[in-house]
Amino acid sequence: MFNLDRLHLLASHILGTPIYIIRTGDGVEPKHTVPHAVAWTAAALDVTHKPLLESMGKWEGRRPAVVLHDAVFAEQVAEAEACGMDAEKFATEYADAVMVHELAHIACRGGVDLSEPTDKLCQFADAIATYSVRCHIADEAADDHREAVKSHDADFVRACVHAVHRARQIGFRFPGYYCFGEGATCDFDYDLAESALSTEPESLSYMSIFDINKTTRPTYNFRRYKEAIQCQQQ
Ligand SMILES: [Zn+2]
Repeated sequence: MFNLDRLHLLASHILGTPIYIIRTGDGVEPKHTVPHAVAWTAAALDVTHKPLLESMGKWEGRRPAVVLHDAVFAEQVAEAEACGMDAEKFATEYADAVMVHELAHIACRGGVDLSEPTDKLCQFADAIATYSVRCHIADEAADDHREAVKSHDADFVRACVHAVHRARQIGFRFPGYYCFGEGATCDFDYDLAESALSTEPESLSYMSIFDINKTTRPTYNFRRYKEAIQCQQQ
């Protein structure tokens, strides 16, 4: 279902560093599985899944990590197919876009933590992943999307538009708005965000994507994002 070589290529180009891509079908424990999310990442997600990566012979030290949820992804592809879309084309483009979304979250961390995973960090990473899955389930049950909205703020949107631009540099051609998903967790309009940032993704393309949000975000762009939100809410 996923072309992992393709997704690894995308990640290496955008981040300039290799990542772990883990599929729920690899054996991600239910306590570490976000039920309805198509993918997720977190600062110590590699450490959370170190035992799994080791069992697959894939652990090579600290790296950013992304988990892809096989079942949710398959549901989305089936839904697209039911709407008359070409399932294979959609699956390829959607997987690219989902990966770019997660890479933008990683870029927003401003760097990669390469510190050796001590036993304490392993326990902590396991506990925090379990806790955040529980919080996610509770928020979803309460129809409370504040935490999810917070992680998809204007800095994230900016990093995402930059990540899409970098994907385009190496020939990826998925629709940009696939990266923002649907629902209450990401209210920004992709096309508006892209036009608000104008030539910035090209002019800052020499820079590591981890450093983009260390530069000042032009204020007029932020206003445009706000307008985009208001437009959608009307
Ligand atoms: Zn997200």
